[in-house]
Amino acid sequence: MTRFQIITILALPLAALALGFGNLALLIGVLVAFGLIIGLGVTLPQLSLFGPYVCRGNPAGRCVALTFDDGPDGRSTPALLELLRAEGVAAAFFCIGERVAANHELAARIVREGHLLENHSYAHSNATNLFTVARLKAELTRTQAAIQQSTGMAPQYFRPPMGLSNPRVFRCARALGLQVIGWSARGLDTQSHDPERIVARIVRQLDSGAIILLHDGNIPAERLVVTVKLLLAKLKERRYEIVRLDKMLK
Ligand SMILES: [Zn+2]
Repeated sequence: MTRFQIITILALPLAALALGFGNLALLIGVLVAFGLIIGLGVTLPQLSLFGPYVCRGNPAGRCVALTFDDGPDGRSTPALLELLRAEGVAAAFFCIGERVAANHELAARIVREGHLLENHSYAHSNATNLFTVARLKAELTRTQAAIQQSTGMAPQYFRPPMGLSNPRVFRCARALGLQVIGWSARGLDTQSHDPERIVARIVRQLDSGAIILLHDGNIPAERLVVTVKLLLAKLKERRYEIVRLDKMLK
């Protein structure tokens, strides 16, 4: 049973009781609290309200995993791949299906160089969280096919656009054998332009088993490279080992 189902089971009799006694204040209170919890659950993966949202790995050992969203992007992903190869680091790339279809060779290179290439929806629509089960399933299936065609590998993870979720997301992911992945540390690198601030924000949220979220899509290559170089130095300084996501989740 999910946390959402438990909260619904608790809220319903309370609302019925309030209605039965004509206690409008209590009824409004229950409905507002319920709405607030739903809103938080939709936007905060870490609450795992609607299903098993994986936001961190095994805390045993001083390991963290790097993840990059919204690529592959011909303007920035190649520079990132060069850096990761030079540093001997393997990451997970949560890619947009239509970008994979438009960048076959780059997608294949990501996998060839030892990284994971995972499902981040086909079009990264802002309305993904409003999709019906049928539409969401079609979106995820199309992305799986595009990735498989480019890389020969089938993704095992799905990260919803903007991390937004609801019960349908988990139902579809489960039907396709995908685990839903969030994060525990992020630098808000699409909003901040200062690598120092981006890395400082990530470092503040770091702990063993952290899943770090950055973007390789729609980010200037130079800023991305400076940010990742700085982050790798900080991780080394704090003696964190960077492991590939699938290995950290084992
Ligand atoms: Zn994204």
